[in-house]
Amino acid sequence: MTENQIQAGSSVESICKRCKTVTDHHVVAMLGDKIAKVECKVCRARHAYASPTAEPKVKTPAASRAKSAAGSGTASPAPRKASAAALKQAQAQTEQWEKLISPCTSPLAYSMERTFRTGDVLAHPVFGPGYVQKVMKPCTIEVLFKDAVRNLRCGKLA
Ligand SMILES: [Zn+2]
Repeated sequence: MTENQIQAGSSVESICKRCKTVTDHHVVAMLGDKIAKVECKVCRARHAYASPTAEPKVKTPAASRAKSAAGSGTASPAPRKASAAALKQAQAQTEQWEKLISPCTSPLAYSMERTFRTGDVLAHPVFGPGYVQKVMKPCTIEVLFKDAVRNLRCGKLA
């Protein structure tokens, strides 16, 4: 027999649901060597013993992060068929671009302040020659470049 063996009347710490915290309790009833029922010294509520060291299950953010990272890592590459179609589309776009810009011998130097009209051919310092295929008020143009269609800033359209 140990001296600090818990028995009815002993003081123990337990989670009190009414106080919503860990408080001192008297042991009211034992079940074998386990505490069955306790009385809160603060609010006098009698309830089942709830060990203060038993921590509620908490989802670890690190674990869920790792899981999502793994999920994105295993993302399957685009199907071969789709990439072939995309390539074909890109080729068609490049051909169209060549057809549209080739008649123009003096493309307009691109500037954000300048206004453009549909059908204009411009020369962009980074993207190269481009065909203005759409103007969007107040100040955006959709330009077909060799590699992509880009929306560029332009002067305010009337
Ligand atoms: Zn209490």
